[in-house]
Amino acid sequence: ANSSTPEEPPKDDKFLGGLHSSAFNEASCLSRYQSSLYRKPSNHTPSSYLVAKLRRYEALHKKCGPKTELYKKAVEHLKSNVSTGPLECNYVVWLPADGLGNRIISITSSFLYALLNDKVLLLDLPQDMRGLFCEPFPESSWLLPADFPIQNRYWIFEHDPHSYGNMLKNKVVSNEINITNVGNSLPGYLYLHLLHANDDFDKIFYCEDGQKFLQQFPWLLLRSNEYFAPAFFFIPEFEEELKLLFPERSTVFHHLGRYLFNPTNSVWGYITRYYEAYLANAREILGVQIRIFAFANVEIDVMLNQIMNCSVSEKLLPDVSLNGSALPSITGEKPKAVLLASLMGEYFDKLRDRYYEHATTTGEVVGVYQPTHEEQQHTEKLSHNMKALAEMYLLSLSDELITSPFSTFGYVAHALGGLRPWILVRNANQNPPCVRSLSMEPCFHFPPSFECKTKRKVDIGRVVPNVRHCEDFFLGIKLF
Ligand code: GDP
Repeated sequence: ANSSTPEEPPKDDKFLGGLHSSAFNEASCLSRYQSSLYRKPSNHTPSSYLVAKLRRYEALHKKCGPKTELYKKAVEHLKSNVSTGPLECNYVVWLPADGLGNRIISITSSFLYALLNDKVLLLDLPQDMRGLFCEPFPESSWLLPADFPIQNRYWIFEHDPHSYGNMLKNKVVSNEINITNVGNSLPGYLYLHLLHANDDFDKIFYCEDGQKFLQQFPWLLLRSNEYFAPAFFFIPEFEEELKLLFPERSTVFHHLGRYLFNPTNSVWGYITRYYEAYLANAREILGVQIRIFAFANVEIDVMLNQIMNCSVSEKLLPDVSLNGSALPSITGEKPKAVLLASLMGEYFDKLRDRYYEHATTTGEVVGVYQPTHEEQQHTEKLSHNMKALAEMYLLSLSDELITSPFSTFGYVAHALGGLRPWILVRNANQNPPCVRSLSMEPCFHFPPSFECKTKRKVDIGRVVPNVRHCEDFFLGIKLF
């Protein structure tokens, strides 16, 4: 934890090694330049190649973004409802699905897709997300304009007539088509269905011939709730570029996430007030994220035991002396802080009481804090999402992190923070109570399970280099 009062950070830190452009008005988005006051310097520096690529992307976005002549031209083209090949500006429009964590990881993956294909990323942000993040690209906007001609976006899913997977399945298109040779037969846009429950036809998006085919379309709409960025690492066409962008493979989200998701001044207010009030004085912060899914319910006491066993066995927290014999023996050291994030309040009460009612075996003092307990997920409410973002961000400022399995909320927290979390894996008898994540990257839950050329079933987690199965979900893969 950083216990000093914020002062002006050194210039290099302030721009996060060149990740952030200096073209912004700083006061309009304080978090972008103040994050280094709260987060320890990252051990992971963005490559100069990535920094240059981001500056080039910003120029492209400014040239092609909303309100530009080229955007208007591309929209006119879209209205004609035929694609005859790429235009000067080509777009990928992100459509939302599920909670904030899911949305953040899928936006990040879509941005990597745009970077690799020189496409411009626009977001169809629902009202419940407007006011969370600063605009990431200078002198432009990533918001899809309200008068965008495709108005039925809310209902676009896998059976849409523009769905790429569906069209492949019905043999309306094939990846071998060169669209300049087929006259006016291809529609003005395609829809990519990249939700977790998509089929093998949708997943051809993750194959090289699919990628090449899609490069010909000026407009693509994409809906995903997943972290599909790892998929690009097994497309040969992108291999060289990805090596240059991310010489350290497992930093994809860490860099792109810190670049894209700077909280607005309102959310930054939540984060900094909470930090200063409760965490700034701590010697160390342990973040604990508890997410209970309906399909894997766990009793409170079982969960709490697992967290305690994990914390004590991995030396993240001191144990308490339950027999009551330990005398008050305050060491004068600053306390340790546990920052708890959960929809529920019961864990907080129990954990706080534990360290209040009993001395620790080491004499250390532990303070337990939880910013909110919203009880239920309300993704449709902006005020709820502001708190969710503030908590993901606060967790990312921890020194160590314990997270719940399968939760994209937790993924965002650890990947932003550059932390390899301890994951509370589900197994018989909770033994071991937690495992250390192989990398700070989020897990791609449902990657393709076939080999692109032959369409034979394969175990991607085993055959593809650079990825491994996730510790928290056996079907998933992650970069390491
Ligand atoms: P996932 O479902 O765990 O993968 O994460 P998501 O972020 O996609 O969806 C869960 C949503 O529930 C969050 O976005 C929040 O709206 C809410 N939520 C879950 N856990 C917490 C928490 O610890 N704090 C707050 N404030 N909200 C939470």
